[in-house]
Amino acid sequence: MQLLLGFILALLIAYLAYRAHSLNKSGAYAAAFTGTIIFGIGGWEWAILLLTFFITSSALSRAFKKQKQGLDEKFSKGHERDAGQVFGNGGVAALFAALHFFYPESTLPWVGFAAALAAVNADTWATELGVLNPHPPRMITNLTKVVEKGTSGGISLFGTFASLLGSAVIGLLAVLLAPADNALSTNYFHLHRTQVQVLLITAAGIAGSLFDSFLGATVQAMYFCPKDNKETEKHPLHTCGTQTIHIRGWTWLDNDWVNFACSAFGVITSLLLTGLF
Ligand SMILES: [Zn+2]
Repeated sequence: MQLLLGFILALLIAYLAYRAHSLNKSGAYAAAFTGTIIFGIGGWEWAILLLTFFITSSALSRAFKKQKQGLDEKFSKGHERDAGQVFGNGGVAALFAALHFFYPESTLPWVGFAAALAAVNADTWATELGVLNPHPPRMITNLTKVVEKGTSGGISLFGTFASLLGSAVIGLLAVLLAPADNALSTNYFHLHRTQVQVLLITAAGIAGSLFDSFLGATVQAMYFCPKDNKETEKHPLHTCGTQTIHIRGWTWLDNDWVNFACSAFGVITSLLLTGLF
């Protein structure tokens, strides 16, 4: 029954997002599939966490249009997310929802799910809000090197603060909504422990987001548009229609895989920290 309700809810949200141009057709199918697993197996707590990421990231990608003018071509895709982006951002989270089906008594699927979403939420908030930073970003691998806004691997004070906020929102919700009888469940008599858990998920999310920037600065596939004389993630064609040339990074490691790695790194961090506390 819950699986059927999850399917209907996922289908409805994917359809609305498609109509609002937040998702293209392949993205809508991917979102319906991912949503069915997460809503259908997890339930409403899992749904709220996923929707917090999905709704805030869709809204933020539309906000501050003026400040983002001319930046769109730097990012490999526009506002309409496709299947690759949906699986890149939600694939690891869906995997942990599936784990919850096989290990319903274990806390770890919820921790992993929350950490995966905290990481992609941190990364999205940093990308979308980082453009508001008054100064251009600096390379994460070389903080003395100033780069153009929107460059992969570039970080700024504002973007880092945005990633902290994006991660903390998921961390806070993850602890508030933790399933009962769960090691993460909120309990006023264990407020201290609860705070530690919020910090744990938040830290995992920031770690994932920083790892994303690190990959962007080092091994992510980067291309060059000879017509615009610009570095871009776009391949094979730039926004102007010109064929882009590979200049650095692993050709298979596109933005979707980097997002996937971002959430996976968040999960690994959360599991390591869970072991510590
Ligand atoms: Zn071009």
